[in-house]
Amino acid sequence: MKRALTGPAEPGRPGAAAPLRALIYNRVSHDAAGKGYSVAEQERENRAECADRGWEITAVLTDNHVGASRFSRGDRPEWRRVTEIIAAGGCDVLVLWESSRCTRDLREYAELADLCDQHNVLLSYSGRIYDMGDPDDRHRAGSDALDSERETARTRKRVTRSVRRRKAEGLPHGKIPYGYRREYDPVTREYLRQVPHEETAPIVREIARRLLAGEALHAVAEDLTRRGIPTPRGAASWQPTQVRRVGLSDTAAGLITLDTGTRVTAQWEPLISEADHDLLVARLTDPARRTWRDGSTKHLLAGLAVCGVCGAPVRRVKNRGSPSYACSRGHCVSRSQAWVDDLTERIIIERLSRTDAAEAFAADDPAAVDAATEARALRARLQTFYDNLDLSAAGLVAAERKLLPQIQAAEDRARRAHRSPLVGSLAAPDPAVVEQRWVRLTMPQRREVIRTLDLVVRIHRTRRGVRKLDPASVEIG
Ligand SMILES: [Zn+2]
Repeated sequence: MKRALTGPAEPGRPGAAAPLRALIYNRVSHDAAGKGYSVAEQERENRAECADRGWEITAVLTDNHVGASRFSRGDRPEWRRVTEIIAAGGCDVLVLWESSRCTRDLREYAELADLCDQHNVLLSYSGRIYDMGDPDDRHRAGSDALDSERETARTRKRVTRSVRRRKAEGLPHGKIPYGYRREYDPVTREYLRQVPHEETAPIVREIARRLLAGEALHAVAEDLTRRGIPTPRGAASWQPTQVRRVGLSDTAAGLITLDTGTRVTAQWEPLISEADHDLLVARLTDPARRTWRDGSTKHLLAGLAVCGVCGAPVRRVKNRGSPSYACSRGHCVSRSQAWVDDLTERIIIERLSRTDAAEAFAADDPAAVDAATEARALRARLQTFYDNLDLSAAGLVAAERKLLPQIQAAEDRARRAHRSPLVGSLAAPDPAVVEQRWVRLTMPQRREVIRTLDLVVRIHRTRRGVRKLDPASVEIG
């Protein structure tokens, strides 16, 4: 007969009111099969397991010593205490991260199994409970001790399950996110809360603010590097992709997206508002963004304006010594940079000084919010396919083929409908005021305005016999 596995919930168990007493044992791994779970991570997961099962933790013992190739009993003083506590009847269940955590060697495993059986102690690891007095369980636990590969797979499943539970509760999971630190009870070492980190939280806020203002990823990365601010991984040099990752973080917005696509509010303080987060995601996932990096930020229309003949973006060149925009693909067109810039700026100022402009551009379109929500739900749905290890490669491709176009369409709508705070702050009923504000913007901000206005600048071929700077040869709309 199998014994009851949970304490308080199990009716008919002798002393049902009292939860099972759990003894947690953590140990760093010597071998590659350990997959690098630190003792702190093991402890956190083991504590979560006890909380899930309603067990009361009586002791947490940790052997943090990493020996050379093999370990002897002498390497693990706490393990000896574990066996002593079991022998003294001091616990009902022994909680381990995985079976190799207690013993790699089968002789020791047999001793542990006997000890647990003798003292009616259950063994819990990898999300499962084994009763050494039960022949089936004993057989299973024994084969686990032999079959490390299958055990690793179980551990992975168990981690996924635990992560899902924590996410649904708005609790942090996994690594501590950049911008935060975690507080633990000094005595019990129980997790208490996740709070903004005094040094890194301001960096997260700064990155969000600067990206929203239209600064390029690489410009922000260079500046952070120059100021000697360490990267999230502690390196000296920031890469644009790292800045992007910080900007896209839903953790920093105090949000958790579940696998079902539902978004839950996390139990920690956000560093970025939800609205700003949505805006950043729409911007940073815009495929057009890739075309305007590096040198392109020095010139208003490089990579933004397009060739009227072949549709390729223009690049900034010197045409017989004079700064020009030219087709980046062939020799289709070339036009004076200053002239095209001036023409474009005049149109922007005219648009933003229309009487209804301030209102039109300040409004946050509800359709944008809906589209962003839809895109997020679709992405989360796609993620469940990636997470499903039983799904065949063909099945995954089919899911991608169906979902990716829908995701792209929703994100496009979100991006188009979103109004930049930058454009809103620029608009005024007086063209002179708009111009004053415009000249104060940085070049990345100006380019951001063009993108937000969805302004397409098309440089056409000039007609034969017409003077070179014919306004009809540039189409702006
Ligand atoms: Zn061209």
